[in-house]
Order: sequence, then structure tokens, then C-alpha cells
Amino acid sequence: MTTTQAAASPLLELSHVHQIYTSGQRSFTAVHDVNLTITEGEFVALLGPSGCGKSTLLRIVAGLQQPSQGMVRYRGQPLTGVNPHATIVFQTFALFPWLSVLENVELALKARGIPAQSRQPRALDLIDRVGLDGFETAYPRELSGGMRQKVGFARAMAVEPELLCLDEPFSALDVLSAESLRGELLELWTGGSIPTKAILMVSHNIEEAVFMADRIVVMGKEPGRIITEAKVEFLHPRQRKSEEFQRVVDEVYGILAGQTVPAELGVAPGEPGRIRALPKIAISDLAGLLEHLSELPADRQDIYRLPAELKINADHMLNLTETAEILGFAYVEKGDIALTSLGETFAEASIQARKEIFATRIRRLPLVRWLTTLLAHSENHALDWDIIRTALELEFPQDEAAKQLDTLISWGRYAEMIAYNSDSALVYLETPA
Ligand code: ADP
Ligand code: MG
Repeated sequence: MTTTQAAASPLLELSHVHQIYTSGQRSFTAVHDVNLTITEGEFVALLGPSGCGKSTLLRIVAGLQQPSQGMVRYRGQPLTGVNPHATIVFQTFALFPWLSVLENVELALKARGIPAQSRQPRALDLIDRVGLDGFETAYPRELSGGMRQKVGFARAMAVEPELLCLDEPFSALDVLSAESLRGELLELWTGGSIPTKAILMVSHNIEEAVFMADRIVVMGKEPGRIITEAKVEFLHPRQRKSEEFQRVVDEVYGILAGQTVPAELGVAPGEPGRIRALPKIAISDLAGLLEHLSELPADRQDIYRLPAELKINADHMLNLTETAEILGFAYVEKGDIALTSLGETFAEASIQARKEIFATRIRRLPLVRWLTTLLAHSENHALDWDIIRTALELEFPQDEAAKQLDTLISWGRYAEMIAYNSDSALVYLETPA
């Protein structure tokens, strides 16, 4: 960030925002005590697993809903009602089906009071900028999902909002359209050719957040809350393959992976055990899921159809899905699962290459890091199984500690990081670091 931006005034301030939803007798905390300030010049990403309250926060920021508790200020003034300075671009944008692309964009300009004669040239320019040149007279039903999303962007930009809010705006697009639209948006933003003062983007794609944002606010769920923030300080255009890029991705990945929890654990939220537990999943089952997904023709699969196809029960399926997501092999959205490019690589890789990929992923998990560090500092890089289990009992209930250790050993063995001798009951580092 430049010094002028650092000195700029806060645009948006959320203080102690809570959102509680009630249905019938039950009430449920979707957002817990969120404090967030967005300053002029910032591109902030809200990153977190499904259901952690990202969309809820965005609606609160846009004034589409009032928080149950807490304060929202815009340019220092308490926000009441719809925020006139913020616009949300949703995952799938609602266009008027009876209007053409051009008319849909012109309507947004009209709503802003742009005089009739300048609407058309401006709308044409916006349509061109999002890459829809040639589709001006098409109707929404004639467009692909990606193209409709581009019209949504053109409309959002026509409004020239001070605060542009994006709710997983690229996740419904195919890979190529998503990447080109990300590039277009960044160019508009960094080039200063739009009057937007700040961007708040919801994502659950780590690489997307690192590619685009200056600051990543990491959220966790149950309850939905902010866990930490990471700054991304290197310049655009960012190179996904560069070392600094991968370093930030790994850092954020470690934070997100560390807070994922299997639901059956029964530890109260906020306790360390809850933060660090591993899902009890065998690598062969995980590999089976990834192979199955890579063999299917469509990119996205309905999760609820998979248990029947894979002949496993639904709970096991959810655990598997969560594991694939923690490890960055797949992502889950609206009940669909899709492989990431890493997941595809894994599914197609040789046995040895799979082990290496798996090792690089689990090295970042807090529990794996804890065990390898412990072993590295032990005599002969080895420790008795019982001693490790006892240490884990500080974090987990007794039988859960044993299960966690078994999972750790089985994952560590597969990754060829950890070895276990069942005769001596010794756990040791395979390749001392
Ligand atoms: P995210 O966008 O991070 O996936 P959401 O903000 O959509 O999360 O939802 C957070 C949680 O609140 C979810 O468990 C969701 O089911 C619940 N939720 C969202 N909107 C409502 C609502 N209007 N009424 C009741 N529960 C809701
Ligand atoms: Mg959402």
C-alpha cells in the first residue's frame, strides 16, 4: 500500500456485529462479534468455508439486512437502510430477462440519472470492457452463465459504486472466463479507471484471494467469525507460480486447514482441540473419491449423488469432502464438488508423485507440524506412541486423542514423513528435517 492509502479515511466500519437467525424455536448465531474496517484504496477479500457467514456480512455491509447487534458505519455515519454507496455482484446475477444486454446495462445508467443520449455509448463501452462485444442485442436466455455474469459486472460498474461488494463472483464461471474476468476487474481497479474506492470480495478460493486482494480476512464457522488477517503486499500483476505467491497461499491455507473440524468431535468451540483435529479419513478412500471425480465428464458433481455412486454412507462422504477441501484437492459449493487443478494432478499422478503432493499439503496442517516438530526434538527422532497420545490428551478427550494419533500416523506414513514400528510402539521421523 502507498502512504496516501494508508493515511486515507475509513470507508466502512463494522463494530461488534452479530447476526442471529431464528427459525421456529431454534436460534442460530451466523455471525459472531465481527469487527472490520475497510479503508479507501483497499481491496479486501473475505475468505472462509461455506456457511461461515460471508454472504450475511456482505448483505449487512450493503444495508440489505440489519445486524441483530452491533454497529455499521459508512464514512463515519451510522448506516440505516440500504447503503447507497455499495453495490453487490452476486454469484449469479439477476438480469431482466425481457431486456437485451444493452438495455440491461442502460437501465442501470438510467437509474443513476445519466442523461438518455449518453447512456448508449457508455453502456456499449462497459459491455466492451467486460468482453461482451458483439452480444449487445442478445437476451439473457441466449447467454451462457459466464456471459450473464459479465453483464452483471457491467451493470455493477455502471452504478459506479464507491464500495464494490462481490459475492463469489467468479465461482459459477468456467475456469477460463473466470480468470479473464478477474484480470479485467483488476485492470479496471488498479488502473483507476473506475470511481470505486474499495472492493470487498467474498471468496472461498485461496488462490483467487491472494491473486486479487491486498488484505485477506480469514473467517471460521460455528460460529461465523473472523479468525485472523493476512496482508498481501506484492504488486499486480501477481504471478501464481512465484515464490511469494505460493508462500502467502500456504500461510492462508495453513490457517484455514487448522480450523476445520469434524462435527462429531464434541469439543466446545474455541478449545484448541477443536481447532486442530484431523478428519478420520483413509488415504485410499480419499484417492478413490478424487479418481472418481476425475473420471466423470462434468466438472462439478452433486455431492448428494456421490454416496450411492461410491457405495459409502452420507456422513463418510461429508468427511471425505471436507478432507479433500482442507487439502486443497477439491472445492465445495452449493452442494456441488469440483476438483482443483491440484486434485486433478493428484488423481492422475503416479504412486510416488501422489505421496509427494500429499506430503506438501499435510506439512502445513498444525497437527502434523506439531508432531514432526516434537519428533525432531526427541532423542533419535523417535517417541513412544503412548507418550504422544498423552501429549494429545491435553487437547482432545482420551479416545479422540488416540484416534487423532492413528490418523496422524496413517497420513504421515503415506506421505513418507513419519514411520511407526508396531513391535516397539515407536513413532519416528522418516526423514529427519
Ligand atoms: P456463506 O456465505 O459464508 O456460505 P451465509 O452467510 O450464506 O454463509 O450463511 C451463514 C449461515 O447462516 C449458514 O448456516 C446459513 O444456513 C445461515 N443463514 C443464512 N441466511 C439465513 C437466513 N435468512 N435465515 C436463517 N439462516 C440463514
Ligand atoms: Mg455465500
